[in-house]
Amino acid sequence: MKGLYVHIPFCESICHYCDFVKRVPKDQVMIDRYLTALSEEIKSYQHHFPTIETIYIGGGTPSMLTVEQLTRLFDMLKDIHPVEYTIEVNPESYSEKKGELFKNYGINRVSLGVQTFNDHLLNYLNRKHKEDDIFAVVHHLKKVGIPRISIDLIYAIPGQTMELLDYDLDMIEKLDITHVSCYSLILEEKTYFYHQYLRGKFHEMDQDMEATMYDRVMKRLKKQGFEHYEISNYAKDKHYSLHNLLYWTLGEYIGVGMGAHGFVDGYRTYNKRHLNGYLESFQDHKDEQTQEMMLQDDLIFGLRKIEGISIADIEQKYQIDLFKTYPKLKEKEAFGLIEVVDGKLRLTEKGIFLGNQVFMVFV
Ligand code: SF4
Repeated sequence: MKGLYVHIPFCESICHYCDFVKRVPKDQVMIDRYLTALSEEIKSYQHHFPTIETIYIGGGTPSMLTVEQLTRLFDMLKDIHPVEYTIEVNPESYSEKKGELFKNYGINRVSLGVQTFNDHLLNYLNRKHKEDDIFAVVHHLKKVGIPRISIDLIYAIPGQTMELLDYDLDMIEKLDITHVSCYSLILEEKTYFYHQYLRGKFHEMDQDMEATMYDRVMKRLKKQGFEHYEISNYAKDKHYSLHNLLYWTLGEYIGVGMGAHGFVDGYRTYNKRHLNGYLESFQDHKDEQTQEMMLQDDLIFGLRKIEGISIADIEQKYQIDLFKTYPKLKEKEAFGLIEVVDGKLRLTEKGIFLGNQVFMVFV
C-alpha cells in the first residue's frame, strides 16, 4: 500500500500562524504554469500508480483553484484508483460546482480548514471565512454524497476562553462529521504572529490553560463518540485517515509539488520549496534511510498512535532490546508518561500531552 501526496501551494491570503509551504499567486497564469510542472512530476511516478491506495491533495488551499484548474488536476490523477481520496478545502473558496466535481472524480473525503467557529477569532487568525460558511459547505458536501468529512480545529488561541472552546465543540457535534484533527496554536518563526511576538504584541496562552483545553477537547470529543486514535486526531466509526496512518506506520508515500516530502524505496525525498526552483527541477534532495533513522521514526511516529507500538514487533524488526537500547524509557515510565499494556508501549493520558518529553528519548 502506498500513498500520494499532492501539494497545491497557493492561498488567497496568508494566515497569521502559518509556516507551511505556500504563497499568494501573482495571477492565474502562475497557477497554470505550476499545474503544467506538477503534471510532469506526477507522470514521472506513473509506474507506481497501480499500488497507490490513498491520494491526499493538500496545501496551501487546493479549493482556491478554479473549476477548470481542478478538472485539470483531477485528470492528471484519474488513472489511479485509491480507496481513500482526500482534498483540503477552505470554506470561503468552496462552491457547489466544485463539490459536484469532487464527487464526479471519486473524491470520498474532504478535510475542511475550520480552525474555530468564532468569527472574531477567525478574523484574528486572518482566516477569510465565517461560521455560517462552515455549515453551508458541510451541508452541501453531504448533499452531493461525500461520505467522510474531517475538520481542522485550533485551540489555545490567545483570547480564546473555555466558553469559546466549548462553543467550538458544540458546533462540531452539530455538524455530525466523521473526523477531527485538533492542534494547539504553535508560535512558528517567520509568521506574522512571530513578528508580533518579537514586538511584544503577541502573548502565547499559558501552559496550564493550554493543558486544560487539551483535556477538554479530548474528553468532549470522546463523549461525542469520537475515538482518540492519534495524538491530534479523532475519528468516528473507525473513519481514520488512512493516508496519515501511512505516515505514522512508516508506510510508503510519494510527495509531489512544491515543498512536498516523500518516502519511497527506502529514501526520504524533499522537493524544492520555492516556485521558480520547483519549476526548473522538482526535487531538492533525497536521503537514504539507515536502520537507525527508521527505528527512530518507527518509535516516534508509532507512539503518536494512541494504541502505541508492539514491543515484540519493534524488537524483531530491528534486532534490539527496546528498554536496553533506550534506558531512559524506564524514567519516563516512572514519571507516568508511558506504560506497557498487553505487550504494547504507549503514552499515558499525561504522556499524550507531554509527548515531546518522551520522543526526546529516541533522538
Ligand atoms: S490557508 Fe492554510 S496554507 Fe494557506 S496560509 Fe492559511 S493555514 Fe497556511
